[in-house]
Amino acid sequence: MNRVYNFSAGPSMLPVSVLQKAQADLLDYHGSGMSVMEMSHRSKWFDEIIQNTEAGIRRVLGVPDNYKIGFFQGGATQQFAMVPLNLMTTGTADYLVTGNFSKKAAEEGAKFGTARIAASSKDRNFTYIPDVKAIDYDPNASYIHICQNNTIFGTRFREVPQVDGIPLVADMSSMIFSEPTDVTKYGCIYFGVQKNVAPAGMAIAILREDLLGKSAKGIPADKIPTMMNYTTLIGKDSMYNTPPCWCIYMTGLMMEYLEHEIGGLEAMAQINRDKADKLYAYLDSQNFYHNPVEPDYRSMMNVTFTSPTPELDKAFCAEADKAGFVNLKGHRLVGGMRASIYNAMPPKAIDDLIEFMEKFRKANA
Ligand code: PMP
Repeated sequence: MNRVYNFSAGPSMLPVSVLQKAQADLLDYHGSGMSVMEMSHRSKWFDEIIQNTEAGIRRVLGVPDNYKIGFFQGGATQQFAMVPLNLMTTGTADYLVTGNFSKKAAEEGAKFGTARIAASSKDRNFTYIPDVKAIDYDPNASYIHICQNNTIFGTRFREVPQVDGIPLVADMSSMIFSEPTDVTKYGCIYFGVQKNVAPAGMAIAILREDLLGKSAKGIPADKIPTMMNYTTLIGKDSMYNTPPCWCIYMTGLMMEYLEHEIGGLEAMAQINRDKADKLYAYLDSQNFYHNPVEPDYRSMMNVTFTSPTPELDKAFCAEADKAGFVNLKGHRLVGGMRASIYNAMPPKAIDDLIEFMEKFRKANA
């Protein structure tokens, strides 16, 4: 077995112990004589799996009883449309554009009403997060939408908008379960699972109960397509149709891992903080590599950097790949490199990466 350090932004590494648990269960899940991939979603085994997964999310993240949890196909991108379709009751919402995904969310929102760009960090190529306390929010906004960690630009919100009476909606795709989250600050949290939680193929939304049963202004609730309707899907416990069974099962294993092997999100955050701090400290200690993000807004999950030239960036990625550090190429919008260091990236990978970076620097400076 030759496992590499996979720095992909998503789909991403999963903990080896989680993969091994899935492997052990693969051919015969708990005496069922079949794998989770083969069983009916209406079976007693799957019923237990989905209930355990939801209970695990509730315990690990601390989701209060007045929030519902839904498992959906269509990825986080489908949530960009489901949010306005279900929640834009006043016909307008405020969007904070801090990168590519929040821009896409706003564009999707504009199909259902007014997606007002309340703030943007485009002026400095998304290298910072606007001061959320200095923004003039529209008092008539149905919600305020943020992307809490910007996967491509390597930034994150330190503080989130809090406006009386206006629910906060957050795309947490690339930071969910990386640190404790106060769910009560949000009306809706959603995320694609393929970075920090499970294999690709599912998004999870956590919604405050009082926001359900509504629809975008001008669209009657019963005209929302069934598979886009939070209220219907959650009302059927995410089993209106065949759900993404394997992803739900893997999410459950990940919750067990976070709870019992890591010891919860405080402990996970400490590990993640140490990893990120070490890598940023190295980046700040020399002049060959450069991280463009304002220090206060640096992401704990996605660390971007460049070398002195695009040619050296290319050489760096090629040599890194050969040395077992794969998928370090930055997103095409940013160039350079990006190390996505989600929960499953072992701390030793950071030491090894820094050692490799230092060798490359000495050879090419
Ligand atoms: N939001 C964020 C923050 C992301 O990083 C991504 C995926 N890279 C998406 C949304 C889109 O997710 P999906 O591919 O699941 O639609």
